[in-house]
Amino acid sequence: MTHPKTMTQLLKLKGLKVSNITFRSREKAIYLAVKPHKNGCRCPECGRRCKIKRILPESRTWRDISVCGWTIFFVYAPKEIVCPTHGRAQEDIPWADAHARVSYRLEFLMLTYAQLMTQKAAAQLLHIAKSTFSDILHRTIDRVRDGHRIRGLRCIGVDEVSYRKGHKYVTVVYDLERSCVLWVGQGKGRATIDEFFNTFLSAYQRKQIQWACCDMSETFIGALKEHCPNAKLVLDRFHLVKALNAAVDEVRKEQWRHVSREERKVLKGIRWILFRNDSDRTREDRRVLQSLRKSNRRIHRASILKDEFQQFWDFKAPWAARRFLKRWSTTTLKSRLEPFRKFVTTLRKHSEDIITFVECRITNAVSEGLNRIIRMIKNRASGFRSVKAFIDLIYLSIGDLDIPAQTPTRFRTL
Ligand SMILES: [Zn+2]
Repeated sequence: MTHPKTMTQLLKLKGLKVSNITFRSREKAIYLAVKPHKNGCRCPECGRRCKIKRILPESRTWRDISVCGWTIFFVYAPKEIVCPTHGRAQEDIPWADAHARVSYRLEFLMLTYAQLMTQKAAAQLLHIAKSTFSDILHRTIDRVRDGHRIRGLRCIGVDEVSYRKGHKYVTVVYDLERSCVLWVGQGKGRATIDEFFNTFLSAYQRKQIQWACCDMSETFIGALKEHCPNAKLVLDRFHLVKALNAAVDEVRKEQWRHVSREERKVLKGIRWILFRNDSDRTREDRRVLQSLRKSNRRIHRASILKDEFQQFWDFKAPWAARRFLKRWSTTTLKSRLEPFRKFVTTLRKHSEDIITFVECRITNAVSEGLNRIIRMIKNRASGFRSVKAFIDLIYLSIGDLDIPAQTPTRFRTL
C-alpha cells in the first residue's frame, strides 16, 4: 500500500484523495495535500458539478483532529467554478463549511466536548486556544441554528432563569412534550415573550398549541392568553407549592419575632420540617409538629393547612377539585393568618387555571429538570462574558435540535 493510501485508511478520509504528506516535527503537525475525490467542482448552492473557471492562487489550510499528538492539516487550493444558475463561486468544500478553518469532524468533536465539560477543559484536550475554541463554537452553533424552524409544538412552557446576580434574567420557552428548549431570549418582560411568538411561530402554529404552562406572573399569563387562543392555561404546580411554602415561612418568621427567647428554642430547625411533604417526614419530625400544637398554635395551624392542600394534587375530577379548593379557601380565611389570606387571594384569582392541572396533569416538571441542566451549565462556566454565550450553550446542550449531530460529517470518527 502506498503512503497516501495508508493515510487515507488510517484517518478514514473517505471521499478525499491524499496526494502528498509532509511531516513537520517542530510543530508536531502533518500536512496532507488533499483534494475531493469524485465530488469536487460542485456549486455550493445547488450541488451541481460545474465547469472550472480557474484554480485560486492561494491554497487554504484546514485543521483536522489530532492523532497521537500530531495535528492533521488539510491543504488544498479551491477552484473557482461557473454554475449555470448561480454564476461564479468558489467550489463546495466537502470536508468543511465554506468559511470555516476547521474540518466538520473537528467541529463535531468540539461541540460534543463542549456539552460534557467546561470550554477550558475541552480546549485543552483538543490543543486549541480557548478564545479560538469559543469563537468556533459560537460560529458553528449560529450556523446550525440559522433558519431552524420549530415544528409540531403542542405543549408549551415558559419560565425565567437568572443568569447573573443583580436580577439579570433570560426567558426560556420549552416544548414540554419533547422536553427541550425551543428558544431563549434576554430579559423577562412582555417584549421578550412577544418577540418569540411573533418571529418564530406562524398564526397556524400558535393555534395548534393546546396546553400552556407557566408560573403566576401576570406577564406570562397575559402573553400566553393573547398568543395561544386555543391553549388551556395550566399554572405550574411547582410555583404554586413554592408560594404556599413561602406563606408558611412567613407565619414562622412572624412568630419568631414575637416569642420569647425560651420559646425560640422550640422553633429552631423547624423550617425544613415545615417545607417537607408529610409523606417524607420522619417520626421525630411529626413529634416536633405535634408539640407545636400546644406551644405555638399559629405555626401548627399553618402546617396543617399546608398539608391539607397537598390533597389537591391527587384529584382526578375537576368538579371535586373545585369543591376542595372552595372549602380549603374558606377554612384558610377563617384561620386569621395574613400570609395565607394573600395566598388564597391569588388562588381565587387563578382558580380555573389551577384546576386545569387536574385534567391534563401537565407541570413544568420537565422544565424544572431542564432548569437544573441550565443551572449546571451556568455553574460550570462560572460566569459568562455575554448572555449570547450562555444562550448558545443552552441551545447546544438541551436545544430542540441536536446540534452536534447536525454538522455534516462525511468522515466522522466518533
Ligand atoms: Zn448552482
